[in-house]
Amino acid sequence: MRKNIVAGNWKMNKNLQEGIALAKELNETLAADKPNCDVVICTPFIHLASVTPIVDKAVIGVGAENCADKVSGAYTGEVSAEMVASTGAEYVILGHSERRAYYHETVEILEEKVKLALANNLKPIFCIGEVLEEREANKQNEVVATQLASVFSLSAEDFSKIILAYEPVWAIGTGKTATAEQAQEIHAFIRSLIADKYGKEVAENTSILYGGSCKPSNAKELFANPDVDGGLIGGAALKVVDFKGIIDAFK
Ligand code: PEP
Repeated sequence: MRKNIVAGNWKMNKNLQEGIALAKELNETLAADKPNCDVVICTPFIHLASVTPIVDKAVIGVGAENCADKVSGAYTGEVSAEMVASTGAEYVILGHSERRAYYHETVEILEEKVKLALANNLKPIFCIGEVLEEREANKQNEVVATQLASVFSLSAEDFSKIILAYEPVWAIGTGKTATAEQAQEIHAFIRSLIADKYGKEVAENTSILYGGSCKPSNAKELFANPDVDGGLIGGAALKVVDFKGIIDAFK
């Protein structure tokens, strides 16, 4: 059966000392009160090697927020999937809307990144989602179908290692959340696309997270939907009390 997962995306927040303190506090909090779901924190690259040894791997997985689309070599400033994995990290967010929009990551680039992540035993948290104009034009299904198709070149075995995150761009960091009905509707549609491509079993085993202004006050209602298997959390992952409030939606 698929897993329920709450994953934090720290984005470009917290210097190294602050990040270590946040990870320690989360680790202590979850040691005292075990979660009923998988918990992941995705941190800036420079935090990874310091954060992985201080969290209990059985309770908190660590991931990067990106990786390079090249194996190695003369790509100044880039960080490869192999480098990420060498820190002990197990996950990597790929295709976040901020990377697609601000760093022009195309479907071709993302396909390469996903393949390299998998080749290095990282679990990609692959993000898809429409912008406001697309939602207003009722094009959300078309958009997520196209974005998802960029990883449909994978074998069923490889696709099974991917976690999906549906993140409507109009809900990220805006305080606007998709309603529980909107989330369920599009998550069910995404699962049907996976079933059409890889069959029902793969579809049923794929975790599809919701992301976009998720907070303790709305997490329970969102996660109660049969096709919403947890959340990818931005702002609310930066405070343990908020992140824990979301994790506790599974209690
Ligand atoms: C995100 O960036 O993945 C996200 C969901 O952000 P927020 O929770 O702040 O909307």
